[in-house]
Amino acid sequence: MWEDRAIDAAIEARQRAYAPYSRFRVGAALVAGEHLVAGMNLENRSFGGTICAERVAACAAWTSGWVPEQHPWQLLAIAADEDIMPCGICLQFLSEFAPELPLVLVNTESNEVRRRTLRQLLPERFVGQQLPRTNPKTDS
Ligand SMILES: [Zn+2]
Repeated sequence: MWEDRAIDAAIEARQRAYAPYSRFRVGAALVAGEHLVAGMNLENRSFGGTICAERVAACAAWTSGWVPEQHPWQLLAIAADEDIMPCGICLQFLSEFAPELPLVLVNTESNEVRRRTLRQLLPERFVGQQLPRTNPKTDS
């Protein structure tokens, strides 16, 4: 049920992508606990400022307070009009919050749906064990 809802939301979000340069429109929908939040790629003429749909969805979940500790991220559906695979930046970004996140990859042209996990696509993520970890709620 959640997977179907996420797929529909990703396909719908894709229609709202801002992709005037590449014309490559991508939608994503993240299931966070009992919540569903969508994102779409937002391009920028600086190109480096472009944000992928996957990270937009993750940031929208975070902004809504649906952080993984309280609302486990259970599924991310990603839709495009060709076989889609998250970029390396998105894999690393998402792995910080949900390293085992199931991914549902939807090709809206062929209607093919492929399933992977984040761990499969990024088995050895950067963890930065030397980096100090602070608690943003208690440390300033
Ligand atoms: Zn990406």
